[in-house]
Amino acid sequence: MLSITNHDRNRLGLNYVYPVLSRRAEGLSIGINLNPNNACNWRCIYCQVPGLQRGGAPAIDLALLERELRELLQDVLQGDFFDRLHVPPAWREIRDIAISGNGEPTSSAEFCRVVDLIGSVAASLGLDDCKRVLISNGSLVHQPLVQQGLKRWGELGGILWFKLDSATDAGLARINNAGLASAKARANLETAAALCPVWIQTCLFLQDEQPPALHECRAYLELLADLTARSIPLQGVLLYGLARPSRQPEAPRLSALPLEWLESFANDIRRLGLEVKVSE
Ligand code: SF4
Repeated sequence: MLSITNHDRNRLGLNYVYPVLSRRAEGLSIGINLNPNNACNWRCIYCQVPGLQRGGAPAIDLALLERELRELLQDVLQGDFFDRLHVPPAWREIRDIAISGNGEPTSSAEFCRVVDLIGSVAASLGLDDCKRVLISNGSLVHQPLVQQGLKRWGELGGILWFKLDSATDAGLARINNAGLASAKARANLETAAALCPVWIQTCLFLQDEQPPALHECRAYLELLADLTARSIPLQGVLLYGLARPSRQPEAPRLSALPLEWLESFANDIRRLGLEVKVSE
């Protein structure tokens, strides 16, 4: 049975492709995991990936990925997928195809080819208009091949969710263990926004029962204000809380912020002229 609480990416026993009932997508999302090795170049303290390890994506078997994607989409479109997995009637629609896995997808050497593969499979099944989302920490946007993939992703109608949990060096180190300076994250964000539509995605939570510090909130808002003042094209900001428990050692120290806190911060961002969506 598919449910919105179980996001097990191995559900169907496939290597790269998984279906998930997503609150984010408000329906069925077809996920593509380019990191079946659970490897990421970051270690976010709220990361939900089981057995997360440092590293990049392994070599991708593109023929297998194409077969898995095509067969799953055909099963959903023409087979008994919804009945077999007891999907509630209101959720029986493919809302998006998402490159979202157990690590940073743009670390895959085949990232560009995967983008084209998704485009051609979707087109062959009449899904050209299906929303496409790439969920990335944006840390590799400086690489020419990643830029090439993002440009193509944008041409195919895809959008990028760019992770930005802090606008300070200390915050990036504490939250994401990113080994990345905030100036570099900002530069990557600006580069990405010029290549395809970008939503900033920001995870907010209590750590040791404390909300994000005032200087962190201020730095974040100042960054957004600067980007909007310089007309960097941003679609908006997605604020989200701890939907599922962290699998990192810091997990016991993390808890969800009250919705009122998230809404209040969202309003601070809206005052800058940006659209904001909040999900707990
Ligand atoms: S970027 Fe994503 S996959 Fe990587 S550690 Fe952070 S939350 Fe986990």
